[in-house]
Amino acid sequence: MMEPISCPSPHRDSRLVRLGHGSGGRMTAELIEEIFLPVLGNEILNQLDDAAIFACDSGQPLAITTDAYVVSPIFFPGGDIGSLACHGTINDLSMRGAQPKYMAASFIIEEGFPLEELKSVVQSFGNACSNALVKVVAADTKVVGRGAADGVFITTTGIGEVIWQPAPAAHRAVPGDLVLVSGDIGRHGMAVMSKREGLDFESTILSDSAPLFEQVRSLMQAGDRSTHCLRDITRGGLAGVVNELAQSSRTGIVLDETSIPVESQVGALCEILGLDPLFVACEGRFVAIVAEQSVERVLSALRQCPGAEGTAVIGRVVDSHPGRVVLQSKIGGERLLDKLSGEQLPRIC
Ligand code: MG
Repeated sequence: MMEPISCPSPHRDSRLVRLGHGSGGRMTAELIEEIFLPVLGNEILNQLDDAAIFACDSGQPLAITTDAYVVSPIFFPGGDIGSLACHGTINDLSMRGAQPKYMAASFIIEEGFPLEELKSVVQSFGNACSNALVKVVAADTKVVGRGAADGVFITTTGIGEVIWQPAPAAHRAVPGDLVLVSGDIGRHGMAVMSKREGLDFESTILSDSAPLFEQVRSLMQAGDRSTHCLRDITRGGLAGVVNELAQSSRTGIVLDETSIPVESQVGALCEILGLDPLFVACEGRFVAIVAEQSVERVLSALRQCPGAEGTAVIGRVVDSHPGRVVLQSKIGGERLLDKLSGEQLPRIC
């Protein structure tokens, strides 16, 4: 087996926060385990799922999630920080079998940010929320001096109603299940990078940023109770998500590289920039781990959903190498597919 990819090498011996701590990879996991969980951890937070499920005394289970958006540039092909903040939050709720209902948002704005651009970001956030039938019920603004932020940052909290139980959760994969991806990967990361690197005139790659609840609804209805795990692919890319699912479930996962859909322009831009699409963020794609007997039904339901026509089976859950992901590569070999250690693309969401 070849060594896992671990480039670029992060500064891990420092006593300072590094960009790699925001990667969603191994450094992020260390930060969470060493700084946050020892103080804030409890039986719900410790599950580290996309959204936490809890119930008030009345009994109806709810899902809650929170997130911060710092994408640079703020406007990118196929979206902006406003629509992204909505989609990212409601998608985390959807991944737990919850219907997104309410949103709280806080806007941290840098002095000097053009009001026209702020208006456009807020409009885009509002449109995305109303298209998803999500009500913004609490909001806040803060303005900081020049240089203390970068344009605008948004933090959100989303609340949803859990409508499918048992809810899909990262620990529920079992050997024999199949691994699906809801379409081609890497478009969000490459759309942001093309703009950032000034390559957006040469490429027509649009971010895949999109709300996923309707796709999840079709999948859950078709798959009955056999959808064990759902996770949207964001920072850390497909490789990061699949590793998290293998670790939480204490199972092994084998992926078949040739069946992982990557659009040709995305593949080409990745090559130019020296990136591996398996580690590039999406914002409108998810991984589903489904019991084998339901996969045909789930596949045909998803392929009829707008945006999920390219759903593909890309691998299998196995009982060997628990916690690890093995990639059967295009050229026939096998290699361990680890999480990235540090940061491949900072400020992608
Ligand atoms: Mg997520």
